[in-house]
Amino acid sequence: MNESKVNEQARLAALYEVSSRLGQSLDLTEVLNQVMDAIIQLTGAERGFLMLYDELNKLQTMAARNVDQKTIDGRSMKISRTVIDRAMSTRQGILTNNAQEDDRFAGQQSVVGYQLRSIMCAPLRARGEMLGAVYVDNRLFNSVFDDADLKLLVTFANQAAIALDNARLFTQTNQTLARRVNELSIFQRIDRQLNKSLDLDKVLNSALDWAISLTEADGGSIGLLETMEDSEERFLRLLVHKGATPRQNGKPILVPLHHPVLAQVLAEEQPVFTRQVSLEQAIDGSPAAAQVAVPIMRDGAISGLISLESHLETAITDEDIAFVQRLADRAAVAIKNARLYEKIHAVNQAKSEFISVVTHELRLPMTAIKGYNDLLIGGLTGPLTEQQQQFLQIVRRNINRMQDLISDLSDINRIESGRMKFEYAAFDIRDTVNDVRDSLQEVIAGKQQTLTIEMEQGIAEVYADPKRIGQALTNLVSNAYKYTPEGGEITVRVKEVPGFAQLSVVDNGIGISEENQAKLFTQFFRAEDHAVREQAGWGLGLSIVKKMVEAQGGEIGFESELNRGSAFTFTVPLVTIKRNNK
Ligand code: ADP
Repeated sequence: MNESKVNEQARLAALYEVSSRLGQSLDLTEVLNQVMDAIIQLTGAERGFLMLYDELNKLQTMAARNVDQKTIDGRSMKISRTVIDRAMSTRQGILTNNAQEDDRFAGQQSVVGYQLRSIMCAPLRARGEMLGAVYVDNRLFNSVFDDADLKLLVTFANQAAIALDNARLFTQTNQTLARRVNELSIFQRIDRQLNKSLDLDKVLNSALDWAISLTEADGGSIGLLETMEDSEERFLRLLVHKGATPRQNGKPILVPLHHPVLAQVLAEEQPVFTRQVSLEQAIDGSPAAAQVAVPIMRDGAISGLISLESHLETAITDEDIAFVQRLADRAAVAIKNARLYEKIHAVNQAKSEFISVVTHELRLPMTAIKGYNDLLIGGLTGPLTEQQQQFLQIVRRNINRMQDLISDLSDINRIESGRMKFEYAAFDIRDTVNDVRDSLQEVIAGKQQTLTIEMEQGIAEVYADPKRIGQALTNLVSNAYKYTPEGGEITVRVKEVPGFAQLSVVDNGIGISEENQAKLFTQFFRAEDHAVREQAGWGLGLSIVKKMVEAQGGEIGFESELNRGSAFTFTVPLVTIKRNNK
């Protein structure tokens, strides 16, 4: 075998060896380094580098041996660049042993002052696309490349390109996936925070905080489209604003619909990005280097705008804009909920005021009617026939019914609007139970029912409003009385459970069906049962009891079986926890 044959075989063996190692990794940097080392090893070049197209289609040096970035960028590399350009455009490997004299690069003669070099370059191609190129060179006195070297380089470049392409695709997919996972987890946090509040101001503030903190923006605002009440004119009202000082100090900024950027967003229903933002273009009236205005879409229409700004033109990227768009979609839902809540809140407020006025206005005439009725019944205005007596008793019963309703309604109203005052004190729950027993004993006995009280000894004092706890217990015992037939049994049990006094009112009355159990504690609910309907009531008692018990830190529950009886149990905090909490 002659020397060149031996050489050839050695080269092929080396090629086989490095090629088989290639592609075992999917890490782009690792593959790049492998390729670069292999090229130097295979070609015996003095130095070399590898360039790949970046996202903007510009060639970037990705790996180099014995050349630094400064040299690569410098003027002395002009020839190398020309060689690379040529390899890329002809899609062929290139070999030259005197670039300065080479016709193909003759134009570069002016940059002599540079040693003659033997140069090789091969394009990197995969899936029919140019990825970049590899370049190697030697000083002429070191050694000269020949055609066999070029063939080897081109062969290797073809394989290397595939390995690089795979690694790059994998890295990209991996990065995209990681970004997506990261974004999802951020959105999960955003959703949680946005949906935590029904307060519009809080929702808008946290949406804007997220938008600013996850982009490179320095400030921004969120506005909602509104219609002026008197003129029907529409505008964007900036409700939250961060960063540069807004144009109208203190006062909310109203942006007219003909504002150039807002008008464009409204027309295109797409984010609008502006560079060198003038005073007229700025949504919040403060000029900036860059601004993006992203529509908040709801039910297919624009309901508001998130705008971000920066003093750096490059701060807001396409990715940021896509992110803010997705944020806007989520904010839209939270804003819708908060606005609905605001409306409901306003309606509730109006209802509450109405009930408060009506109950107050009804109380006075009812008291007068009741007073005169009592005078008549008492015979103070002269003797009555039996029928007159009977009719006046009916009037009295109905007045009592109406007074109960007025008092229940005003209780509910006060609890719901937070206006009910609880006068907290430490007291012995047994006193309350005894008081309730004393006040109801007579009516209970009148229905031949028995009322048994079972109280544990040594229950610690409770901390609540004694009057309201008495009212809750009275309500439950009255229900037991009302919904238990004559001769039934009612038991009130009191015991201590950790942190609480627990009161149970147990009866062996008509009980509550499973279907009705689900509706218990809702306002105006009364069972259809005849035994229920023949008792006076408005279906408000239990919901008042529940609200009162809960407002004072306790809980209420029940157990019941139709035709067997019911047990209602509620708790009142012991004084010890209340004091510890303070
Ligand atoms: P009211 O007694 O005025 O109807 P409540 O809110 O106190 O209003 O009670 C609502 C409904 O719950 C009653 O109408 C009745 O159907 C049922 N209920 C309450 N307590 C009992 C009980 N101890 N036994 C059976 N049914 C009861």
